[in-house]
Amino acid sequence: MDKGLVIKNTGSWYLVKTDDGSCVECKIKGNFRLKGIRSTNPVAVGDRVKIIRNQEGTAFITEIEDRKNYIIRRSSNLSKQSHIIASNLDQCMLIVTVNYPETSTTFIDRFLASAEAYRVPVCLVFNKTDRYSEDENRYLDGLINLYTTIGYQCYKTSAINNEGINEIKQALAGKITLFSGNSGVGKSTLINSILPEQNLKTGDISNAHNKGMHTTTFSEMFPVDGGGYIIDTPGIKGFGTFDMEEEEVGHYFKEIFKFSAGCKYGNCTHRHEPGCAVREAVEKHYISESRYNSYLSILDDKEDGKYRSAF
Ligand code: GDP
Ligand code: ZN
Repeated sequence: MDKGLVIKNTGSWYLVKTDDGSCVECKIKGNFRLKGIRSTNPVAVGDRVKIIRNQEGTAFITEIEDRKNYIIRRSSNLSKQSHIIASNLDQCMLIVTVNYPETSTTFIDRFLASAEAYRVPVCLVFNKTDRYSEDENRYLDGLINLYTTIGYQCYKTSAINNEGINEIKQALAGKITLFSGNSGVGKSTLINSILPEQNLKTGDISNAHNKGMHTTTFSEMFPVDGGGYIIDTPGIKGFGTFDMEEEEVGHYFKEIFKFSAGCKYGNCTHRHEPGCAVREAVEKHYISESRYNSYLSILDDKEDGKYRSAF
């Protein structure tokens, strides 16, 4: 019996890195089922598992340790079935650009809120710093100031000039990190400058992924210096969907949640209720207008019935 970490899933077998450092190809034991989750793949990259090797040299995964979190994608054709993309994420890096292409604060805030709901810490990576004008740089500093104050670690990078890459590498060491971001922000270029030489180059990563997307459950974590892993998920925008009550939405905006302790009503939605400490904080500029608007936009979606697809 060995313990290890699932670092690759081809759909028919899994690659497990055991705690003594060897890599073992494993199958799932025939009667193996995961409790509680209706998933097309019972085992995902990031899972901590127990394996048993038999005399023929084949190995089987016999047990999965409880996951601290996981991200899923719902299958389009099989109702209520989901596909687990990865589990046990330590953090997520959201790559954004002020321009080229423009990333809206609404997009950032929705992403942050869904990550809060999944209890995955996020850091923001503002890429393409080499391209910004003076005005754009001022705006960037404003954003960094805003999100740092709320409690999100921010980084500035230029994947092309190799600026800020060492800081990113340090933040990745020893952790499982999901990379996210709109297409065009430089995610592949950034990953390329981070990954050690022995890893696949990003073109290969994307190709492998894209192929997998259409057919099987292919996913893989890429080792980085210092014992961590990167998970790249082309085409996956957020953390998947989940249901929640209106008054819960504010729990996922750190600073709104903090101020909501002072609201008169426990179930305050911070829109029109009297004695709302959150609205007062917005008026006094303790909470930024853009964050409050993002919060309201999620509530609006909920009213329109499109809430579940919003994340
Ligand atoms: P992805 O879709 O997020 O994976 O983006 P890519 O890595 O494919 O990059 C999109 C474009 O932005 C490419 O033309 C890159 O060369 C360019 N790019 C990526 N990072 C930077 C950067 O830091 N500065 C500049 N100026 N261009 C970048
Ligand atoms: Zn309130």
